[in-house]
Amino acid sequence: MSTEIPPPEVIYVEGHKVACNGGGGALGHPLVYLELGASGEVECGYCDRKFVHKDHAHDYADPSPRPEGAH
Ligand SMILES: [Zn+2]
Repeated sequence: MSTEIPPPEVIYVEGHKVACNGGGGALGHPLVYLELGASGEVECGYCDRKFVHKDHAHDYADPSPRPEGAH
């Protein structure tokens, strides 16, 4: 009943390439480089942390929000 899985950590970044080593500790892993795709986000296959470009972050205060699905 108390097997709640904590949500993966979301890290907002400004670039389109990130390096992740899990942040050390129990979740530490070899350093890997991840590239944010066109969606502006990528998930680390090792530690499940999610890297989101700040322009794509829904929680990030955007002064000029774009309508979704407008292509
Ligand atoms: Zn990682």
